[in-house]
Amino acid sequence: RAKAQGRNSFQFYDPEMQKQALDRAQLYTDLRAAIADRQFEVYYQAQVNAAKEVIGAEALVRWNHPQRGLLSPAYFIQFAEETGLIGQIGMLVLEKACLEIKKLEKLGYSLPVAVNISANHILQEDFVDSVANLTKSMAIEPHMLKLEITESAMIQDTETVVQRMRALISMGFRFSLDDFGTGYSSLSYLKLFPIHEIKLDMRFVQDMLQSKEDAAIAELVFSLAKVLKLEVIAEGVSEVSQYDFLRELGCERFQGYLFSKPVARRDFEALVVQGSRHNVSLKG
Ligand code: C2E
Ligand code: MG
Ligand code: MG
Ligand code: MG
Repeated sequence: RAKAQGRNSFQFYDPEMQKQALDRAQLYTDLRAAIADRQFEVYYQAQVNAAKEVIGAEALVRWNHPQRGLLSPAYFIQFAEETGLIGQIGMLVLEKACLEIKKLEKLGYSLPVAVNISANHILQEDFVDSVANLTKSMAIEPHMLKLEITESAMIQDTETVVQRMRALISMGFRFSLDDFGTGYSSLSYLKLFPIHEIKLDMRFVQDMLQSKEDAAIAELVFSLAKVLKLEVIAEGVSEVSQYDFLRELGCERFQGYLFSKPVARRDFEALVVQGSRHNVSLKG
């Protein structure tokens, strides 16, 4: 299109656009270096039961950028998906999560770890083999890993995604449907995708007490999950009142700042060993 407009098209000289292009190129270079140097850290956020005991964790990646410090996934995950670098990052996160499962086992705890997986990663040719080989080489039982996928990420090539999920499930891996309720056709995905757990999106959790609609949707998700024999975990639980309301709806699994923020692995290990300090201050 730019060619048709001629070489002198202002598009070539728009400083904003050029800056954007430069930023992307720079980000690409930086991200590739980050993969080579393993500049990623994995934080762990506790998942708790109704007694507020830690029953697992979600692995959440951060980029320890040499100049900019610790960067949140919002800064680079989408870009990594667009450029195909997500597969390498995903494998690094999986490897670290497996190491953490091992470490926790050594401390005497058997805690499954959930890892976010992008659809672009699942769609890479060697996804199933890579995951299977990694866990085999590290002697990790597949059921200790939970793979989190999002509804919106599954629109691309549904058949291939489902096929690969089934291959991994037959080996013992488990799947969670992340951010449930935020996609276009949440209900049909429940039928389409072989999942074990729904993660009720934090939007519902956080609006539930102010909005009858959000409360009704949350309630529906729990009834539906019961019929379909799926686990539900509520995300983004940050207040006791939300926890209490979710308990009334029959919720048995929770994740959110109320229990713990995502923390570095040593802090997570301390949390597990000492028990959540929040336990003491919570009612119930
Ligand atoms: P997610 O998988 O839905 O993860 C939950 C996000 O909510 C995390 O943000 C977590 O820190 C935040 N959160 C948890 N509890 C609360 C709460 O009580 N209140 C509030 N306000 N926020 C809470 P984070 O770590 O910034 O991650 C954002 C997203 O980035 C994740 O959303 C996930 O989609 C993506 N992501 C993170 N790590 C990875 C990864 O290793 N691979 C891929 N593909 N995506 C990742
Ligand atoms: Mg997640
Ligand atoms: Mg989520
Ligand atoms: Mg998400």
